Amino acid sequence: MSGYTAPHCGSLRASDDGREVELYGWVARRRDHGGVTFIDLRDRWGAVQVVLRHADAQLRLEYVVRVRGKVSLRPKGSENPKIATGQVEVVAEELEVISESEPPPFPIEDAEEADEKTRLEYRYLDLRRPRMTRMLQLRNRVNRVIRDYMEEREFIEVETPILTRSSPSGARDFLVPSRLHPGEFYALPQAPQMLKQLLMVSGIQRYYQIARCFRDENLRADRQPEFTQLDLEMSFCDEEDVFALVEGLFARLWKETIGVDIAVPFPRLDIKESFLRYGTDKPDLRYALEIADLGEALGDTRAVIFRSVLDGGGVVRGLAVPGGRDMSRRELDELVTLAKGAGGQGLAWVPGGTLDKHLAADEVAAIKRLTGAGEADLVLIAADRRRKAETVMGLVRQEIARRRKLIREGEWRFLWINPTYLFEEDDQGHLTYAHHPFTRPFAEDMPFVEERPYDVRAHAYDIVCNGYELGGGSLRIYDPAMQERVFQLLGMPLDLIRERFGTLLTAFTYGVPPHGGIAPGIDRIVMMLGGTDNIRDVIAFPKTQSMADLMLGAPSEVDQSQLDELQVKVVARKKPDS
Ligand code: ASP
Repeated sequence: MSGYTAPHCGSLRASDDGREVELYGWVARRRDHGGVTFIDLRDRWGAVQVVLRHADAQLRLEYVVRVRGKVSLRPKGSENPKIATGQVEVVAEELEVISESEPPPFPIEDAEEADEKTRLEYRYLDLRRPRMTRMLQLRNRVNRVIRDYMEEREFIEVETPILTRSSPSGARDFLVPSRLHPGEFYALPQAPQMLKQLLMVSGIQRYYQIARCFRDENLRADRQPEFTQLDLEMSFCDEEDVFALVEGLFARLWKETIGVDIAVPFPRLDIKESFLRYGTDKPDLRYALEIADLGEALGDTRAVIFRSVLDGGGVVRGLAVPGGRDMSRRELDELVTLAKGAGGQGLAWVPGGTLDKHLAADEVAAIKRLTGAGEADLVLIAADRRRKAETVMGLVRQEIARRRKLIREGEWRFLWINPTYLFEEDDQGHLTYAHHPFTRPFAEDMPFVEERPYDVRAHAYDIVCNGYELGGGSLRIYDPAMQERVFQLLGMPLDLIRERFGTLLTAFTYGVPPHGGIAPGIDRIVMMLGGTDNIRDVIAFPKTQSMADLMLGAPSEVDQSQLDELQVKVVARKKPDS
């Protein structure tokens, strides 16, 4: 069988006219026309029309066949300009069925929208669909561009272990019991963070890895328990070096996969500014809507809803909706529901709302000035605690852009969120790290860390594009005393610090270079380049939202003997709600 070297079905062109070919592929379509049968023969490269004069009545969709025949130009008028092979057809002289196929559970065609559960159960057939094959090819291309780019800059790829020890990245660990050390567990890496820092102590200087990361997070629509990052770390660098490296990489990726030139350098935005103006730390800049702080306009207001929020230390934020005075009451009510759904108090608006009679004329004028509202515009207002008001306005901004079709499709608006802050408040109101505990604080902010911890800036950055975070990173602490201090500020007892991070702290006493890095998420990058918003489209064998592999049936129960060997006892069997 010479199918490996034979021409591909999908690569035949008009210039192949007259060529004798042997083709191997799957029957993608079949049409019978007055004694002649046409089939589309599909392989990874595409499909070509094959003409059969002696059709085999048994020939069915998805059979694997070998065809020997001659390429010829299609008769005038029957060309198909929509497909790359549309100028030609192959007139078969010989056809051999190599293997048969049951009728597939869904048509192997892009146009057919099959139910996702069935697609995932029969993923091997789903991947046979041209669109999915293209996604895998795109992903392969992304990985190759990354490797070329990093190698050209003398980074070396180092594989770090999958069976490792817990290193915090803000999620739960997946644990693997150890048979040889009963009662002890490996953790799968949430990210190779400590290891890449240790590689800097090793003198590797420029490390990268296309690294699988594992995070046992709660069920969320766009999350996978395992995902892939371009993990990288470099020594003797500052933010500028990381930015230039990553900007160059993204420019190259966009150019070499979808032929788009993106503008570098990317603009930078302070994280506080981002929350104020866009209500999020991953703003979509493909539309102009900007949120304004209205505190200044309402300093002396008698409008009670604003007065009480401002007096209580909250904020009032407004957003002008272009041409928004035509919004119906129903539309406004839907936005109020959206705001409440995000935990906010609701929304007010001027003009035309109940506020009109409570606000003084100069207050209304100031609101318009601060939000840039014109005659036809409506100003939507949220008054709440700062974080709430920002979240609400961020969602409203997004929703307005969507409803009023303000998003400039086809634009790529990259930016850096930088600087950010070292600490944030967790759900219980406790101080926690914003990124991870290895992030380097601004040295000049450390003197006030006790009094105002939330004001300490960090040498950390996120890369954002069109409303998505594509990755984050930071310069790292390399002074063991400073690292210990940060752990203590995070409320970690000394023995815990020694136990969990002792290796890093000890390593830092043996000549540690200043270092920093970042980890862009490859799944998200491929999603953007592939024009899909479903992460499962860009992973060959993904899990469902409830973390299940429907094709192989994982996770699964295991034999009692395996459990016994591991000395693991199962105390409850309860499935999550999917
Ligand atoms: N390890 C970090 C993460 O996964 C990225 C970094 O700081 O380089 O978020």
